Amino acid sequence: MSIQLDFRTLSLTLMLFSLVFGLGMFAYSREHPKFSGIKIIGVGYFLIGGGCVLLGLRHFIHDFASIVLSNMAIVMGVVLIYRGLFNFLDISLRFERWLSLALVMLLAPVLYFYTFHIPDISMRIQAFSIVFAAACFIGVSGLLQHHEIHSRIVVKMLIAMFLLLGIFFTFRFLWAFYEAPPNNFMEAGLLSALTIIAGEFLVILSSFATIWMASDKLQDEISETARTDPLTGLYNRRAFDECCDIEFSRAQRLDTPFVIIMCDLDHFKKVNDQHGHHVGDQVLKHFAAVLKDRIRQEDVAARFGGEEFVLLLPHSNTEQGLQIAEQLREKAAATQIKVDDAISLTISASFGVAHNYATDSTWGAVLQRADNALYAAKKQGRNRVVGSGVSEPEFTSRQ
Ligand code: GH3
Ligand code: MG
Ligand code: MG
Repeated sequence: MSIQLDFRTLSLTLMLFSLVFGLGMFAYSREHPKFSGIKIIGVGYFLIGGGCVLLGLRHFIHDFASIVLSNMAIVMGVVLIYRGLFNFLDISLRFERWLSLALVMLLAPVLYFYTFHIPDISMRIQAFSIVFAAACFIGVSGLLQHHEIHSRIVVKMLIAMFLLLGIFFTFRFLWAFYEAPPNNFMEAGLLSALTIIAGEFLVILSSFATIWMASDKLQDEISETARTDPLTGLYNRRAFDECCDIEFSRAQRLDTPFVIIMCDLDHFKKVNDQHGHHVGDQVLKHFAAVLKDRIRQEDVAARFGGEEFVLLLPHSNTEQGLQIAEQLREKAAATQIKVDDAISLTISASFGVAHNYATDSTWGAVLQRADNALYAAKKQGRNRVVGSGVSEPEFTSRQ
């Protein structure tokens, strides 16, 4: 059975795919201008589509355009596709930037030479194939160098795509040594027809991957927004609950301590009443900044609601928790908060500190003890730290 694949028709389909997908990418990038990679990929598709138009016009236009320019445009298109994908994955270009450009620039004189000086279709096929393969392998190497993204299915798919294309075009390069040189590129046989199908494979898969990555990014943004308190930028209660779930099961599994600190601004209602809600908001932001500034990277600070905040300190015992709470109390009380250069005020906060027990069945029990300790701090006069179950009577900081 022989498969007849008409080269010109295939070029037409690749051209259509590329131009339509390129237009789609441009339309998408107008809606989402922050995804700059999409525009780069769109330009890549246009170059491939434009290259196919020139290729399909063979014998109707000058050979320089239908051979040299068309092949250059297609290879440049491939380079832009992986650069756009890298941009999406936040992969910085190093040697890839220059290597790919150098390859495309090198291709031009070789194609020119084997078109106008010593016309040789085989040599042109070989030059195009090896540069195409190199561009694909550069794509693979860029993706492989970044281990942190390897677990993503879309990245695995892209690595497989570039690898397959690289292998195919290397084979195409090698095969040209053995096959009889075709008289006319348009009738160059199944393998050449397959190169067009390889191009279609690239365009379809890379555009699919791009939209996949864009939806991942949007999804990440939405879940980040759903986990963040808009006023202070701290985690909100939902995110804090999730962190506590994870820390509680880890602490149970590994038998490690953790601490929860609850804190509440003292007489905050007065701030609102005296200076207005806007100033109250600035005070909340300021206090959140004090918390963020002091905690370690593995600690979690969240706004629990209103003027109440909560901290989760993994791998910490009560002593460390009390120490941190005391530092935060001092810092909060010592700072003059300036709002709009007109108002200057000081605040204080009360803190309740609790650690986990082996008998706790949920982290909620730790939170409840921290809350009780906070209540005790308020009752004892505010602007103080109280530790739950530290000693009898409960630990109280000196002011
Ligand atoms: P205590 O020392 O007992 O904690 O007294 P308090 O005044 O701080 O506590 P209370 O619960 O009486 O008042 C809390 C106030 O916090 C009331 C509410 O208007 C204010 N508040 C809650 N959320 C916000 C907010 O997002 N912005 C501002 N500006 N105020 C808020
Ligand atoms: Mg309060
Ligand atoms: Mg309160």
